[in-house]
Amino acid sequence: MTHPFQFSADNFASNIPLPPGTESPRDEFLKALEQENTDLFHSSVASIDGALALLATGRLEQSYVLLMQAFEIALKGVLDSATQHRDAAWMARHPVIAQRLPDAERVTREKQTRDKICKKTLGSAFDEAHELLRFSSEPTRNFERVRKVRNRIMHAGGSVRRKSKCASQLVTSILPLFDELFTGLINRPLADLIGHRVARELIVAGRWFHSDESDHDDWQIAFRPFAAAWFYENPTNLGLPGRIEGEGEYNTTSEKLENLWYRFLHDRLEDHRLQQVTCHICGEPAWIFCEYELRGGPDDPSIPVSAITCTHCGLTLKEDDRGMAELHYGPITPETDGPQVADLFEHLLACQDN
Ligand SMILES: [Zn+2]
Repeated sequence: MTHPFQFSADNFASNIPLPPGTESPRDEFLKALEQENTDLFHSSVASIDGALALLATGRLEQSYVLLMQAFEIALKGVLDSATQHRDAAWMARHPVIAQRLPDAERVTREKQTRDKICKKTLGSAFDEAHELLRFSSEPTRNFERVRKVRNRIMHAGGSVRRKSKCASQLVTSILPLFDELFTGLINRPLADLIGHRVARELIVAGRWFHSDESDHDDWQIAFRPFAAAWFYENPTNLGLPGRIEGEGEYNTTSEKLENLWYRFLHDRLEDHRLQQVTCHICGEPAWIFCEYELRGGPDDPSIPVSAITCTHCGLTLKEDDRGMAELHYGPITPETDGPQVADLFEHLLACQDN
């Protein structure tokens, strides 16, 4: 069964909202990596962390290159672990790889020194690790594409024209490669390292790039929920960033922000279209705008969400970004957690009956 937070084509293609989840088994993930007895993974993990910080602040190409560097070091970590440190305990931990070692000629032909491993190119490190981990066909095809883009950015810089493609590849091609590598090596997906809250919103971004209706040129929209989740987990010393569109001022206190937001929304909308629900990112009360009409049949009524704002984690998706609001939050149903949701459904169902 696919892990619910796995970066996979199934999860990107599905329109079913992911269950909210905030469990972050990072410590167990790191403990499993430590057993591999190579410090190359420390460097890889630090680069993954750095790449996500860059992405949350909108540095797309820099994040792309750093993720590819993290992947290259992780591939070399696999080779280092498989050729330098294997003993009976290592073989017991990796029964599948152990079985493949005799066939993996290039890896076992000679005892590779750490120096030799670290001098390998990204391409040859991938080929050799592939013989042990057996990446599935889609990530293997994707690897060639992302390697070319990485080389172009490194040697010729980024391109405004290609930003959207770069953003899409980052989520739908590079992150699945990490999933395959870590699942094959320590039986843990990338989500266990970066946290399920953050992983969930990156999968939502992947879903946005997969959806036909999205205006993919505006790639930043795809990462707004991710950025809110990342800043929620990594608050800066200055507090969570928040900006009131139209008010032109920045605020750092949640209470002040909440008052401003409420006034801003209340002035623009009739009360009945503004609902308080539970934020999928931080679990605190969030405000959503919704259509005043029911979708679905009498057994499964729902109301589409058109915008959302949470003053606690800073997530903001305006009505212009409604496609993303729908992908991130999903429709409101009678089961949705919120103080006024039951009343709203009762009212709309009664209107429908009359
Ligand atoms: Zn929130």
